[in-house]
Amino acid sequence: MEKVRIKKIAEERIKILFDLAGKEAKKGNFERVRRYVGLTRKIGMKAQYTLPKELKRKFCKKCNMLLVPGKTCSVRTDEGKKTLNIKCFYCNNITRYKYDRRNRKTARRSSGKIKKG
Ligand SMILES: [Zn+2]
Repeated sequence: MEKVRIKKIAEERIKILFDLAGKEAKKGNFERVRRYVGLTRKIGMKAQYTLPKELKRKFCKKCNMLLVPGKTCSVRTDEGKKTLNIKCFYCNNITRYKYDRRNRKTARRSSGKIKKG
């Protein structure tokens, strides 16, 4: 029961932080954006709350930058490989997502390790 409650709180805080990060990104305060996104990840980890897919794709896993197409990242499609290539302008990391309709849930990342815990 307690766990459910913690997750709920984590979820709310994460939403708030993403909102804040979005606002700071518009202002160009990218250091602050990265701090907010970093916090959401920390909160998520502590509460063992997995970020929803929409949110997971909103930031760079390598440098915690909020990914705003055209502003902090570029989005390209690779027709051959059927991937969506999102390049972070901040650290130049490229994240690839499969967009093949038959296989939508597969998302492969270019940057290595996924932290556990
Ligand atoms: Zn990055």
